Amino acid sequence: MARILIVEDEADIALGLVDDLTREGYQVETAATGPEGLKRARGEAWELILLDVMLPGMDGFDVCRELRRARVRTPVIMLTARAHDAEKVMGLELGADDYVTKPFNPRELRARVKAMLRRLDDGSPGVYCFGSVEVDFDRAEVRCGGTPIDLTALEFRLLRVLIERRGRVLSRAQLIEVAWEPATHVSDRVVDTHILHLRQKIEREPSRPQYLHGVRGIGYRFDG
Ligand code: CA
Repeated sequence: MARILIVEDEADIALGLVDDLTREGYQVETAATGPEGLKRARGEAWELILLDVMLPGMDGFDVCRELRRARVRTPVIMLTARAHDAEKVMGLELGADDYVTKPFNPRELRARVKAMLRRLDDGSPGVYCFGSVEVDFDRAEVRCGGTPIDLTALEFRLLRVLIERRGRVLSRAQLIEVAWEPATHVSDRVVDTHILHLRQKIEREPSRPQYLHGVRGIGYRFDG
C-alpha cells in the first residue's frame, strides 16, 4: 500500500484529498505547514508527496527545493493555485515531478497520482514505439523502420527521460540533472544542441518536430 503525504494548509482541501485517496486504497497522512511538511517528508518513507505552493512558514517551492537538496527523491506533485505558478514549477530547478492546478478535478488528480505511482512500479518500460521508431530500453537500442539508429549514450538518456515523462514539460535543468554526470557544467545551449541532434535522428522533419517539442521559456516535452 503506497504511502502518500499531503502538505496542504487548507483543511477542506486536505480532507477532501484524504477521503478520496484513502478510498483508492492509499495510506494518506497530512501536514499543514511548510516546515512540518519538510520534516515529515524528509524523516519518513513515502511513495509520493502532494505539495501545496502557498503554505504557512515556508512555501512549497522552498520545501521541494530543500527536499531535493537533502537528496530525497520521492516524487512530488505540486498543487498550484495559479497557472503562473504552474509555469514556475516546471521552469525553476525545484525537482518537482508534476503539478496540478487548483481547483482540480478529483478524478484528474487521482489519475495523476496513479500515473506517478505506476511509473515507479514499472521501472523500465521495455520497448516503446512512436511513429516508425522503436526504442528498446533493455538493450539501449533505437530503430527506425527496423533500421538501427546510432544514438550517443547521452542522446539515449535524454530520449529515455523524455519518453518516461511524456506529456510533461521538462526544464533544461531537469534534463541536465538526469542526462549528464553530476557536477558537470552544462549550458542551456548545449542541451538545445543535443536535442537538435536527437530530432535529426528520430523526427521525419526535424525542423517541424512531431514528437520532441520545444516549450518556450521552459524546456522540452515529448508527445508520442
Ligand atoms: Ca495553501
